[in-house]
Amino acid sequence: MYDNDLSDVVAADKAHVWHHLTQHKPFETSDPRVIVEGKGIHVWDAKGTRYLDAVSGGVWTVNVGYGRESIADAVREQLVKLNYFAGSAGSIPGAKFSEKLIEKMPGLSRVYYCNSGSEANEKAFKMVRQIAHKRFGGKKTKILFRERDYHGTTIAALSACGQPERHMQYGPLTPGFVEVPHCLEYRKQWDVEDYGQRAADAIEEVILREGPETVGAICLEPVTAGGGVITPPKGYWERVQEICKKYEVLLHIDEVVCGVGRTGTWFGYQHYGIKPDFVTMAKGVASGYAAIACLVTTEEVFDMFKDDASDPLNYFRDISTFGGCTAGPAAALANMEIIENEGLLENTTQMGEYCLTKLEELMEKHKVVGDVRGKGLFLGAELVADRATKEPVAEKLAQQVVAECGAQGVMIGVTNRSLPGFNNTLCLSPALIATKDNIDEITGAMDVALTRVFG
Ligand code: PLP
Repeated sequence: MYDNDLSDVVAADKAHVWHHLTQHKPFETSDPRVIVEGKGIHVWDAKGTRYLDAVSGGVWTVNVGYGRESIADAVREQLVKLNYFAGSAGSIPGAKFSEKLIEKMPGLSRVYYCNSGSEANEKAFKMVRQIAHKRFGGKKTKILFRERDYHGTTIAALSACGQPERHMQYGPLTPGFVEVPHCLEYRKQWDVEDYGQRAADAIEEVILREGPETVGAICLEPVTAGGGVITPPKGYWERVQEICKKYEVLLHIDEVVCGVGRTGTWFGYQHYGIKPDFVTMAKGVASGYAAIACLVTTEEVFDMFKDDASDPLNYFRDISTFGGCTAGPAAALANMEIIENEGLLENTTQMGEYCLTKLEELMEKHKVVGDVRGKGLFLGAELVADRATKEPVAEKLAQQVVAECGAQGVMIGVTNRSLPGFNNTLCLSPALIATKDNIDEITGAMDVALTRVFG
């Protein structure tokens, strides 16, 4: 369809673009897939091949699907009126989206705009540090993070990253970030009945080891995404909350992936009765129609930054230039309206349950599928060479499954590519508009691909 232009595009791309997460040596001689169009849950490449996109733009982003004219119209209308003004002044779409967002997040009240998940997390880290200086004599500055969670690509966010291969060779990292053990029950670290309680107790052990007077916050994904689609074990979050309360540790929930519908509730934390102090979000906030991220916090935290007017350092001395772009909140507002008007939270819950059943069927049929898990339309199937030892399959075999699905016109993902011991969780996160037929097509392609690769 676009063949005439394609060779020029690919030549320019190969000559000048440095791609994300790409080993460029093999890329140079490859025939890259150039995606040029999207509608609903499908995308088309430049050769005219249609794919069912079961990864929402590759990285869990396009929650409401492609080609949404109401979002494009809202953005256009806003851009011709006022595209930008610095976030210190505020904007009409910023105020409107904040109000709508806060309606969905009881207990929270303040929205801070920026433009990437990493940046939103950094804002929370800075707030925690400033609170430590203002309230705790500069002591409660440490921030805990969990093995296998990911919080972003900037150096401090990377320092809070529980996937070692992501920060290898990027040191020295930022001091003051401390890891706690992961909570994936499939790969048990303790042989106990109440696994959720035990995995959370491990956080208390770290706090006691570090000294509670030094620990300011803990940053956790509600359901871990890139670390292998890890749903928390029963009782885990209740215990985490108790521990946070006991030691005055602020609870920062990273909803960059789960946020805005992905798991069937507005936010992943809402499944578990969590009362967070900070929530960060990015990808699904505007489904990729505009760049927007935000940090949402409580009035209590907000008040700490204005309680002593005589102190010239009293306020949050932070800015994000593009946090003042108006297209982001305009798109986010239209995105949220689509989710409400089309009942997409309900659809996500129903289709997520259906998809999990289909994945369970695959696990029955294919020995290589060791575990399936997920929440809403955020699902994973972990591949193991041996069910007894849980030895992961070779990374290239998992990649082959992804490629075989692609050959059938279905894009799926695989998490954790080079993380020793834990890689190879096939990952599904189709748009929240997915139908039963879409799920059948996705899991059908996986069935064929698993047979082709593993027999
Ligand atoms: N937090 C989580 C859980 C993520 O998965 C990601 C990105 O994948 C980020 C933070 C970083 O977001 P961004 O790439 O927008 O900086």
